[in-house]
Amino acid sequence: MNFSFQIYSPEEQIHDSKFEDKNISVYIKRDDKIHPFISGNKWRKLKYQLEEAKEQQINHLVTFGGAWSNHLLATAAAAAQFGFRATAYVRGEEIQNPVLDMCRLFGMNLLFVDRESYRNKEELFQRGHNPQTSYFIDEGGKSDLGMKGCAEIISELEQQYDHIFVASGTGTTVAGIQLGIAKNNLQTKVHSIPVLKGAEFLKNEFQSWNIDPKLITLHLDYHFSGYAKVKPDLIAFIKSFISSTGIMIEPTYTGKLLFGVYDLIEKEYFKPNSKILVIHTGGITGLLGHLQHFNR
Ligand SMILES: *Cc1c(COP(=O)(O)O)cnc(C)c1O
Repeated sequence: MNFSFQIYSPEEQIHDSKFEDKNISVYIKRDDKIHPFISGNKWRKLKYQLEEAKEQQINHLVTFGGAWSNHLLATAAAAAQFGFRATAYVRGEEIQNPVLDMCRLFGMNLLFVDRESYRNKEELFQRGHNPQTSYFIDEGGKSDLGMKGCAEIISELEQQYDHIFVASGTGTTVAGIQLGIAKNNLQTKVHSIPVLKGAEFLKNEFQSWNIDPKLITLHLDYHFSGYAKVKPDLIAFIKSFISSTGIMIEPTYTGKLLFGVYDLIEKEYFKPNSKILVIHTGGITGLLGHLQHFNR
């Protein structure tokens, strides 16, 4: 079987009079176009881990996530496509939602675990699985191999930029981007918009991955009270962005990311003539959990 697939992720310019007034140009790299379910950064994080599992002749993937996790859906779809079985430990009480339904449709086995047991993922793995026959993938695809996959975002670029922005949960993607920038000797400044509250912990993560935290600028004011939380101004922004660009975004990650970038442009954070690249990390199925905010 041909492992992996052709990546289609063009860099598209976003036109807006707000940018032109300030002499700023904004581009978006469409990682959301990589795959409808193995979307965006989740494919980049999985790629080398699946390759390693194949090399070790392991055909069972075991992973972890919340009930709306883009990572679970991506792993389920990738497992089905590339001939793996997949099991996921889902945090919290058993519930039903469209993301979990789609995971099952791709053949993933779902095991719900209480928050206390979920905390120790290695122990859940060791207790239930043989490492000779099952491959551990951390929550969100977090790993060194995941970072390696994300660094490829940079080697694909057709143009150079002054600034690159990405939304962060575990920080794996932005760390990989920073590694790609360093490897390619670029001067581009790397920025993260964390979607969790209290995301200063990311600095320790970067340090533990041997990345100087000073190289990644964290913009801590765009979490809207926490993970998957929304506010009316975020919803209004998302509606206006989608209808004026034709690019679909959602409230958990890419909505907060673009809200942040637009706000920083408005506040004249960037020098005139700056060229900015925003990474669309995909995850549109996250919208399914927020449709009630968009029904008028
Ligand atoms: C998971 C996810 C992220 C966060 O990626 P990290 O590597 O965990 O920081 C960003 N955007 C989308 C759409 C995601 O699904």
